[in-house]
Amino acid sequence: MYHSEPPLRLKAGDLEAIEECPASAGPGSKLPRAALDRWLAVRYALEEALSNGGDVDAAVGSNAGWLDPVQRELVTGLVASGVILLGTSDAEVLFDPDDNVVVVDHPELNVELASYLQIDVTDPHDPGKLERFKIKTGKQGTSDAEAAILLSGSDTGVGFADLMLRDGTIEPIELTDAEREKELERLHDLAGRERNLKDRRPGWQCYRCDRVARCGQYPAPDGYKVGTRQRTIRVSKSDVVRLDACHRRIAWKVLHVIPSDAGDEVGPAAAVGLLFHEAIANILVAEDREAAFAAELDRVSRDDRDVLETLFERHKQIEADHVPVQYKLTEYPVGATFILPGLDADRDGNVSDGAAVAVTAIARTDAVGRELDDTPAVIEHRTGKTSDRIDERETALYAVSVARLLGAEAVAVHQHSLGGDGDPECIRILYDEDALTEAEQLLASVLEPIATWHPLDATDPAYTVGEWCTGCPYQERCERFRS
Ligand code: SF4
Ligand code: SF4
Repeated sequence: MYHSEPPLRLKAGDLEAIEECPASAGPGSKLPRAALDRWLAVRYALEEALSNGGDVDAAVGSNAGWLDPVQRELVTGLVASGVILLGTSDAEVLFDPDDNVVVVDHPELNVELASYLQIDVTDPHDPGKLERFKIKTGKQGTSDAEAAILLSGSDTGVGFADLMLRDGTIEPIELTDAEREKELERLHDLAGRERNLKDRRPGWQCYRCDRVARCGQYPAPDGYKVGTRQRTIRVSKSDVVRLDACHRRIAWKVLHVIPSDAGDEVGPAAAVGLLFHEAIANILVAEDREAAFAAELDRVSRDDRDVLETLFERHKQIEADHVPVQYKLTEYPVGATFILPGLDADRDGNVSDGAAVAVTAIARTDAVGRELDDTPAVIEHRTGKTSDRIDERETALYAVSVARLLGAEAVAVHQHSLGGDGDPECIRILYDEDALTEAEQLLASVLEPIATWHPLDATDPAYTVGEWCTGCPYQERCERFRS
């Protein structure tokens, strides 16, 4: 089919994001780009290190000298890993080859699917053999969708691989023909779908989406519109609560995107909690709750079944004794964006103050619904000890978020304490207009320091050592950079 305009170039990740939430297709705001900046530093330093005889420190110094010691250590480790992977043979290594993008046309639409490569390696003893690499600095390798583009848009005989610098491995990018065709069909189908920026589908994807402060799911106050160039920092409810312990831990996670010392593991207590939360999410909105409960029991082990049965019985007891709620949605993310005075940085690394920084706090509710008089309600289930209650900042965040999202003048937050040995308990907190105003002020004061954290320097903010360090994923790295 003939088109007069050049084709729209789409990446697999963009299409998959639109599949999860069509509203994510629009322009976002300026979220932290530390991981991308480090990736760029690694890419250029690796090229230099491969041509300067493997002097990694010199290469990092000239390409990433502006980085603070914490991030420079990360970059140095990744570049050293790349030198070991690529620098020990006599192969020819070419960065950013002219044809560094593989494209696949859409059969009808004026779009092309694209995937980018950074390095070509040719074997001087076998010049016809070409290996093409993607540089990966995180845990994730190339997705099947991207692999389908690469393998469909290239000559046979060309090999593709991920240069996994964090693990120090080279992982081939491979798919069977059937897998490749299936993925390509899926991508073509996604490319042909209509974009609807009003079709918001909030979920875990909101923690990756750069429209988080702009799509309307996590509104700013009084109809304020966050701009596309406005510095934005996204935090979770747990981050908000942890702010009273150590700011560095939160900044490393949400702003500087520092990898943890080890992989994330779920402890036994949390595992029981997750199991129940997942089960109750399905049960509460089911038409036939008993049938849904039976189906959930079938999915779990005998030991877990006893725990689930106990927790579910205790939940029913709470429902029988307290203000009834008609559940609408479960595991539904709510949140709010606060506009706070702070720092910003331009693309050249110049930092200025006086910026209006958007800080978006997201809280995943266990359930949302309405009380009988139509008051919006948020339900939080606690499966730990009964004393393990959510605190004022959590309930404030639920209430403010739902009030802003629905334009409500009052919101009820129900805390269901289901664990422990005592009777199950529901604590209902009603946020009326005055309480909502106080909750807004509380959250703004708790979140205010975030806007003043240095946008680029991971040695800011300061660390605070305390009992909380035991559960911190950065203990080893933090200890190395204390002064
Ligand atoms: S933040 Fe969430 S709801 Fe909003 S556009 Fe992104 S993915 Fe969709
Ligand atoms: S180890 Fe302690 S001081 Fe260091 S970042 Fe973690 S919580 Fe903060």
